[in-house]
Amino acid sequence: MKLFGTSGIRAIVQEELTSEIAHLAGLSLGTYLNNQGKVLVGRDPRTSGEMIEHAIISGLLSTGCEVLKLGIVSTPTIAFSTKYYKGDAGVSITASHNPPEYNGIKFWQPNSMAYTPDMEEKIENIIKKRSFRRVDWTRIKGVSRVYGANDAHISAIIDSVKIDNPLKVVIDCANGAASSVTPYVLRRLGCGVITLNSQVDGHFPGRPPEPCSDTLNDLCKVVKSMGADVGIAHDGDGDRTVVVDEEGSLVDFDKFLALIAGEMTVKDSIVITNIDTSICVDEYVAKEGGKVIRTKVGDVHIAEAIMNNGAVFGGEPSGSLIFPDVHLCPDGPLAGVKLVEIINKSEENLSHLIEKIPSYPLERGKIRCRNDQKSVLMDLLKEELPKRFENLDHLDETDGIRIVMKDNSWILVRPSGTEPYMRITVEAKEDVKYLYEITLETLEENLEKTE
Ligand code: MG
Repeated sequence: MKLFGTSGIRAIVQEELTSEIAHLAGLSLGTYLNNQGKVLVGRDPRTSGEMIEHAIISGLLSTGCEVLKLGIVSTPTIAFSTKYYKGDAGVSITASHNPPEYNGIKFWQPNSMAYTPDMEEKIENIIKKRSFRRVDWTRIKGVSRVYGANDAHISAIIDSVKIDNPLKVVIDCANGAASSVTPYVLRRLGCGVITLNSQVDGHFPGRPPEPCSDTLNDLCKVVKSMGADVGIAHDGDGDRTVVVDEEGSLVDFDKFLALIAGEMTVKDSIVITNIDTSICVDEYVAKEGGKVIRTKVGDVHIAEAIMNNGAVFGGEPSGSLIFPDVHLCPDGPLAGVKLVEIINKSEENLSHLIEKIPSYPLERGKIRCRNDQKSVLMDLLKEELPKRFENLDHLDETDGIRIVMKDNSWILVRPSGTEPYMRITVEAKEDVKYLYEITLETLEENLEKTE
């Protein structure tokens, strides 16, 4: 069984993710680190977090690492601390936006960037071969508790923004790990802060930890009824931000990304996003004299491309936004605070700022496809799909198949990394439904051939 998916290890606790697996992950990371070094370990508030934490720490100690325990902190706080406390690696124990029965493990590099798929493969191979190297009893080190991680992270966020006229903000942390960051940052910046679901609770009693239109009704209502300027929502571990405008409407994810990307851009800046993002980001960045480079889907690919291209900013429509002037991990609290800074500077309402962003019809959907059919189907589609469209400009195979038309309309077909689906996105200035139908039809026809 493959342990690492698109975002580290993630599974239902006591089924695929047990304390034994967590212990093996700790032993493997310690072996990978050559039986030495300092590892920062933190977790979101899930009820299984302590069990996983102790198992990982035991593995790390057994292989000669020293452990700095952060307790319940957001994922960006863990990544930031790995850099700040000069760690040799960081470990997040979190299942991000998944329901409370899930948990997961994700590793961080000393520069605050997630482990790349290559690094994860090495960790996984050590587990598969059971090639752990335990140290002699005389070399076993201990655990220290770090209490200043939230403060250090909060200070770094505050230092990166300037807010002259504080706003009224409603924050919904999903009872997740960002509860100890975002409200405190904005209060220290002088904002009027109203909190919803901002006491940590691993059962996520306030709302499911995924911030989306189905789960943010309370936030939308409270922003409007309290006359707030903006609503900010996070996922369970606080690396994502979704926002609500002053009218109480959820802001389109691609447009939120475009707004921030445009604001971060100066002439000749480079901005990174993935291949499944609306062209409104390219247009808004181009307006400021910048250029967009696209990567595979996944925050580690965004972070890598930021490093390789010296980009000013990178993000995905999921609400994972990376500001490399602070660190290389998607940072929900930082994204929320940057938005507050932008609204403050513009002296306009958020809904007006969003209205200015160009918008084209976009359709996203999926069809069921067994994992064993995916690669054969993709090979067939590479041949068949381009034949179905006139005005084809080029084919991009960065991640799945992306067909780009002469008028910049585009179609993306890619297999889901975690579920038995093929995902389809179509964005077009006209005929979006027609293009979507042709794509769907071509997929269905070719799926039959794979049986
Ligand atoms: Mg997350």
